Amino acid sequence: MNNLMSVKFLAKKENVIFARGVAGAFLVNLNLELGFLNEIKTAISEAVTNSIVHGYLCDDTKLVELSMSYDDEVVTVEIIDNGVGIEDITKAKEPLYSTKLEEERAGLGFTIMEVFTDQLLVTSIVNQGTKVKMIKKYYE
Ligand code: ATP
Ligand code: MG
Repeated sequence: MNNLMSVKFLAKKENVIFARGVAGAFLVNLNLELGFLNEIKTAISEAVTNSIVHGYLCDDTKLVELSMSYDDEVVTVEIIDNGVGIEDITKAKEPLYSTKLEEERAGLGFTIMEVFTDQLLVTSIVNQGTKVKMIKKYYE
């Protein structure tokens, strides 16, 4: 591993933009293509939004953690919340599956994370929280 960072922020919707900015700032030394950066930032936005909206049900006194690292080949991202957790992860990852369809959620967050990264690993314990780990290859 060449570099590592971790940051915690309140589960506020404006912090989705903060998380994108932090991710971009952390990766700036890698001189990545704009496309790569947009993809990883969008995947991070989806995971952070999920922690806020689903994990914490928009309780903005709770904390979301974003950790990132990189080596010579891949960028690794983790988004962690201590929220309600996910009962059935396989189902949650299905395209168009959402527990909040009535709130105009498309159910595509996990699909976007899957498409924009090389590996998506979700671990979750009901009433304890959720960890989303994503790995994305880059070529300097
Ligand atoms: P969209 O992302 O398109 O707005 P969505 O958030 O419902 O819709 P996904 O991001 O794919 O869709 O998530 C699918 C489902 O997984 C959610 O509806 C929710 O039930 C569950 N989920 C996802 N992340 C979390 C989390 N951090 N904590 C608890 N439940 C989650
Ligand atoms: Mg979502």
